[in-house]
Amino acid sequence: MTRSSDLPATAPPTPGRSRNMAAIKRRDTKPERAIRSLLHAAGKRYRVDVRLDLEGARPRPDILFTRAKVAVFVDGCFWHCCPEHGRQPGVNAGYWGPKLERNVARDRAADEALRAAGWTVVRVWEHEPRDEAAARIIATVEAAAAPDSSGKPK
Ligand SMILES: [Zn+2]
Repeated sequence: MTRSSDLPATAPPTPGRSRNMAAIKRRDTKPERAIRSLLHAAGKRYRVDVRLDLEGARPRPDILFTRAKVAVFVDGCFWHCCPEHGRQPGVNAGYWGPKLERNVARDRAADEALRAAGWTVVRVWEHEPRDEAAARIIATVEAAAAPDSSGKPK
């Protein structure tokens, strides 16, 4: 039925592939949601997707505890080059290599800017067990909010 002259000159990506890419790109990723609900169940209040305007960077942490000044990022293994799953040699390295290096450089710049502004940064890999990641975040928030770290009574 379809005449070949109707097809675009450049073939679109296969449906399977574009569905994968959409899933990877979606901001509210599954591990992030799971961790948020664990934090919520633990009675922690947080904000999401707040862009901070800092000296040298404008990071947008995935989860933000504004009072304790703790910024949490849930990093995807591929996009942020996790040491265990980050490198996939052969997967168009010439195209992805520089992109991923820029991502990592941006991550480190964000960490520095946040710390310089008095924030505690917690980075969680998407491959980490959700409950362990949540426990780590909660411990960090509680330590940061502890009376002796700020010198103020609770
Ligand atoms: Zn990983």
